[in-house]
Amino acid sequence: MKTRKLVNKLRKELKKVKAYKEQMEQLTDQQLSGLTASFKERYEKGESLDKILPEAFAAMCEADKRVLGMYPFDVQIMAGVALHQGYLAEMNTGEGKTLTATLPMYLNGLTGEGAILVTNNEYLALRDAEEMGPAYRFMGLSVMAGVKRDEDDRFENDEKKEIYKADIVYTTHSALGFDYLINNLVKSASDRFLRPFNFIIIDEADSVLLDSASTPLVISGAPRVQSNLYESADFFVRTLKENEDYEVEEKNVWFTEKGLEYAEEYFGIDNIFAPEYFEIYRHLVLALRAHKIIEKGTEYMISENGEVALIDASSGRTLKGVKLRGGQHQAIECKERLELSQENRSMASITYQNFFSMFPKMSGMSGTIYDAKDELYDVYGKQVVVIPTNNPIQRVDCPDWYFSDSKKQFEAAIRLAVKKHDTGQPVLIVTTMIADTEIISHLLVEKGLPHSVLNANNAFWEADIIKEAGQMGAMTVATSMAGRGTDIKLGPGVKELGGLAVIGVGRMLNIRDERQARGRSGRQGDPGYSRFIVSLEDDIVEKGTDLEKIQKYIDGTKRISDRKIKRIVNNAQKINEELGSTNRKTSKDYDVVLQLERKLMYDTRDMLLDGGTVEKERLLRIAEDNVDLFLKENKELDVTTLNRYLLDNISYRMEKDSGYLNLKNRNRVKAYIMARVEQSLEEKKASIDSESAMNDFVRVSALSAIDEAWIEQVDYLQQLQAAVSGRSSAQRNLMFEYHAEALESFRKMENSIKRNIIRNVLLSEVSMDKKNRLHIILP
Ligand code: ADP
Repeated sequence: MKTRKLVNKLRKELKKVKAYKEQMEQLTDQQLSGLTASFKERYEKGESLDKILPEAFAAMCEADKRVLGMYPFDVQIMAGVALHQGYLAEMNTGEGKTLTATLPMYLNGLTGEGAILVTNNEYLALRDAEEMGPAYRFMGLSVMAGVKRDEDDRFENDEKKEIYKADIVYTTHSALGFDYLINNLVKSASDRFLRPFNFIIIDEADSVLLDSASTPLVISGAPRVQSNLYESADFFVRTLKENEDYEVEEKNVWFTEKGLEYAEEYFGIDNIFAPEYFEIYRHLVLALRAHKIIEKGTEYMISENGEVALIDASSGRTLKGVKLRGGQHQAIECKERLELSQENRSMASITYQNFFSMFPKMSGMSGTIYDAKDELYDVYGKQVVVIPTNNPIQRVDCPDWYFSDSKKQFEAAIRLAVKKHDTGQPVLIVTTMIADTEIISHLLVEKGLPHSVLNANNAFWEADIIKEAGQMGAMTVATSMAGRGTDIKLGPGVKELGGLAVIGVGRMLNIRDERQARGRSGRQGDPGYSRFIVSLEDDIVEKGTDLEKIQKYIDGTKRISDRKIKRIVNNAQKINEELGSTNRKTSKDYDVVLQLERKLMYDTRDMLLDGGTVEKERLLRIAEDNVDLFLKENKELDVTTLNRYLLDNISYRMEKDSGYLNLKNRNRVKAYIMARVEQSLEEKKASIDSESAMNDFVRVSALSAIDEAWIEQVDYLQQLQAAVSGRSSAQRNLMFEYHAEALESFRKMENSIKRNIIRNVLLSEVSMDKKNRLHIILP
């Protein structure tokens, strides 16, 4: 639907809400909050939320006014409707997204099935839960925050149950995502804490849905046996020649045919793609990537204690405790000749794209989401609607200034900042990277200008500082991401001076970041000012530009027009945006296989956890599949192999009679093994006298078989992904190969689950104690 039509539709709903305004004003507090029960009743009787919306919104608006002292503006009510209807709402910064969310959250909270709001840091989640909480509680809904102030502080399982039972939950996208994975690793039904997903609003949706989307959530498990292939792979890669043995393009690198032949010769193997050499190949790809595309200084640095620390591109901070997956981290350590850190297995993983797609109803809001509308539609099937501002925007966004080198650029930024500062106007200088905040800070010190710099690794602290950035005479230096979501209120007398002046230094990674920076100023119709100052030495120019060609302009040996600088810098930004979008798509495509398998496995687990049984017939069929497979794999069967199979899978007891079998007669062999299976099963049953205990035992056996194989599979796919991405895109269709191999490994996993279920059932030691409790020792 066209945006204008959509906005008109929202206006119609707004009218209906406003029609109840006066009526709500007349109610006593008790009557107002009493409405919740009547709305709930109507919903339970089958009335749709859409029908209840006008009254419920009007009631919540009135509650917001009485409890929080703010009656939502018309545009906020419209945005609230859009959120309820599952749109992504673009609301300018400062328009009051926090208050807006109370309306759809309340309405959807009425179902009793839970409404969740996620945002991208703990600070915002806790702040919003605390500030908006009283209004929901006034209306009789329960509210919880799903995060703690200190991210290392964990909730107990029981606390999590409490949290997710609430009608309204404020949390972060990563806390919720991890909880989902953890919830599907529990060993008994009573440990589960999540309810089925119902409704979710994603705050700062572009940041959550796009910027976080190419890094999947991963839960690590047991340590992996350390491989000694890292060093030989590292050594080998150091001998390679570019464009001969491998090729690099953007953020991709792959071996050429020649390179692969060289590897085969070097490692003395015939076909590097053969399954038995998978590990060698995988380590080569990891080493190749570590050496050729993962850059020291921009993507990682060596910390003081000699560890590889990843750098967050947008904030420039090092990411605490985060490691690259699938052995990539170790390959970098090897390249840097550091001690290899412990590599852990992946137990569970999911991408945000797939995670959020599991909600029956999902919506989002952000100040800068329209620029990504096409991608959001493609990936999430979501439409963006631009909500008009409450007051006309007064901020003046001035045209960019262009410079050939960063020295001139920074000097100009300081001159502009000083000029604004001299009038008393507050100034916010926004840079693309942490390193640049330090340069700016240095230059300001030289001028004797006091200022605050935001580069702490702490959203709580940042929010405190950025709040003050609108006071008269304030000078603040920050990266574009710092303090996002925190309101900058203007101090007394600042409006008259023209509001907050935002000076952007450097072309940002994408247009959204730039709009986010400008949006710091001119909130709610306040006056404001913004200008970006860019140069050929901006970090982003490296992308998609031949640096040698522009060196002469940077050196000043040749002049360049502003128009040309603009073209180069904007082009680089565009390339970066496309690259980001491609990466996100790739990461989603990789997860597609996993998503199907994950659903199947999680559903099966749930069925078992919920007390579902595996009937005897089903068990026998599974056993039969195992036997068929065994016979297929052993065309020339001998007695030893048969006995080995019986011992490993069916019974620890040797029977003499297998010696008389005609091993050439497959049907006879099969019938014989199946008879042994039945016999063994009967013996188990006899040792557990009750039927329900037998069911419990089978259930535990199956669950354990599934988990063991599934965790193995998740880990394998993670590694496969790392390996496949190093194959030449010119020669092969990467995604096709990945999917084919993933499917094949899934089939193998199914077989190993089947085998392990039967093994667990037949070979476990089971006993009942005096209290009729089951004790199981799995084989
Ligand atoms: P956003 O997240 O959209 O940038 P916030 O939710 O931080 O904006 O709100 C910006 C400021 O506007 C806050 O100080 C909030 O208290 C105020 N505000 C929001 N809505 C209203 C309203 N309807 N009436 C009065 N003040 C409001």
